Amino acid sequence: MTQKRLVCDTCGKETKQLRRDVVDEGYNALNKPPLWNCEQCYAQKRAKRQEPPSR
Ligand SMILES: [Zn+2]
Repeated sequence: MTQKRLVCDTCGKETKQLRRDVVDEGYNALNKPPLWNCEQCYAQKRAKRQEPPSR
């Protein structure tokens, strides 16, 4: 059994678990390869993504 090494696409760190970065909905996600993030980067991106509702 080969164990795949999981490397964060953002910081390049090896991690036990990767989370897929959710690309903006409505965006052409087909053109963008999915980004894999470690827990830290994922949380950071999520916090960054917190935009005020445009109203
Ligand atoms: Zn990372």
